Amino acid sequence: MKEIVCKLLVIGAGPGGYICAIRAGQLGVDTVIVEKTKAGGTCLNVGCIPSKALIHAAEEFDRLRHMAGLNALGITVEAPRLDLAQTVRWKDGIVGRLNSGVLGLLRKAKVKIVHGAARFRDGKTVEVETETGTQLIRAETVVIATGSEPVDLPALPFGGAVLSSTGALSLQEVPKSLAVVGGGYIGLELGTAFAKLGARVTVVEAMAQILPQYDAELVKPVAKRLGELGVRVLTGAKAKGYSGEALAVEIAGKEERIAADKVLVTVGRRPRTEGWGLEELDLDRAGRFIRIDEHCRTSMRGVYAIGDVTGEPMLAHRAMAQGEMVAEIVAGRKRIWDKRAIPAVCFTDPEIVTAGLSPDEARAQGYEVRVGLFPFSANGRAMTTQSEDGFVRAVARADTNLVLGLQAVGAGVSELSSAFSLALEMGARLEDIAGTIHAHPTRSEGLQEGALKALGHALHI
Ligand code: FAD
Ligand code: NAD
Repeated sequence: MKEIVCKLLVIGAGPGGYICAIRAGQLGVDTVIVEKTKAGGTCLNVGCIPSKALIHAAEEFDRLRHMAGLNALGITVEAPRLDLAQTVRWKDGIVGRLNSGVLGLLRKAKVKIVHGAARFRDGKTVEVETETGTQLIRAETVVIATGSEPVDLPALPFGGAVLSSTGALSLQEVPKSLAVVGGGYIGLELGTAFAKLGARVTVVEAMAQILPQYDAELVKPVAKRLGELGVRVLTGAKAKGYSGEALAVEIAGKEERIAADKVLVTVGRRPRTEGWGLEELDLDRAGRFIRIDEHCRTSMRGVYAIGDVTGEPMLAHRAMAQGEMVAEIVAGRKRIWDKRAIPAVCFTDPEIVTAGLSPDEARAQGYEVRVGLFPFSANGRAMTTQSEDGFVRAVARADTNLVLGLQAVGAGVSELSSAFSLALEMGARLEDIAGTIHAHPTRSEGLQEGALKALGHALHI
């Protein structure tokens, strides 16, 4: 059996693992990364990137469809046609470019890449089944970055017409009717995209509200737009099974059948912790996830865990930030997880972006708060781009004006996420945001106006 001895072994080359390996390599740490499928993990291959590509194509198609015959702007276009197989090839091309990019960055950082599935022998040794035989890797430090996978429902196992997000991102034709079970991040991002591509979409959500992780004020413009797109939303509803033509749903004690060519199940993701020897290490768990401390250490000395395998929020940028921190710790630097905020973006229509605490979360933590909300209906840029729905909201401590949270819903607001997190990381007060010149005309002026509103002297409303 071939054997490699190294200082750092990273298992999984998703956003957490590849960033960890690149940074460790840059710092001169002798690093090996093992990946069983493709570099870039869920995010790059079947998650963030392909979903955003599909969302973009759907937006373009929908825009053109509604411009056909609607010429308020003085533009006339012929009715557009869609070739989803070509859209998927285009998306795969982007994924391919990014795959090669990640491999190139790993090589540049002098990281050794081993292709194959890793299996723990003990806390410092793994076996990898590669194309050329079994490879043994011994390391001083191991980072578990094996990510997560979609959860199915006992009544709706994946297969045939019942799809996970991965299957939905590779469809060659737009289904005539699509039932989406789970109205969270993935269900609403992809459900909206398929509605724009022409599918008749029904969302089946168990809770009383879609996107239950966000407050009702933020979700309202999204629900309104889903209605305009003809998406039927059933809340407080339970999917019972699929007959091949219809999804049986229980709602308010009654059973309803929803015609569906395809069913997309998006009810969450679970950590990849089973079937590769991890159980035998008997690491402490937080529910199904691996328990970590503020250095991403697990309960076993020299074994770290980062990214989705460690729990919520399951976001690529959190995994990357953890990966970068752990690499620096392994290289001997003093680092601790001291982030004030992990921004989150939901790429629905309109988009939702949050960083820090909502008004209710702040109050629940005992703060007396000032809240300033600025609607895009009073923003020149929003008017000139025909998308006035939504707002920016600032939440601050009433006594010191320290900003506790920033949220927005509206077209293109995902790009406000960096301003929001920067404000929180820098410990900004409302006066800092209000006193910063924001370029005109931009949607970002909503941030300044939200802060001014919270201070009691908004200028444009
Ligand atoms: P992963 O990306 O899951 O990578 C883990 C890697 O480990 C995989 O490549 C896997 O093959 C490998 N692996 C597992 N076991 C082994 C083994 N035994 N041996 C070798 N290799 C192994 N997040 C965002 O922040 N923004 C978004 O817009 C967004 N959109 C998403 C859309 C969809 C449809 C989905 C499904 C997810 C989305 N996410 C998004 C979530 C994001 O993809 C994850 O948070 C992120 O990929 C987690 O990174 P990770 O490195 O922890 O794990
Ligand atoms: P999610 O947790 O966002 O949503 C799951 C939804 O399914 C919830 O609303 C839940 O109430 C509902 N649900 C659960 N069981 C149900 C049932 N039996 N019937 C009907 N509804 C049910 O999970 P997801 O959408 O699968 O996404 C998984 C993870 O991927 C998320 O945690 C998120 O962090 C990540 N993600 C992020 C982005 C982004 O950052 N833009 C995009 C996609 C995914």
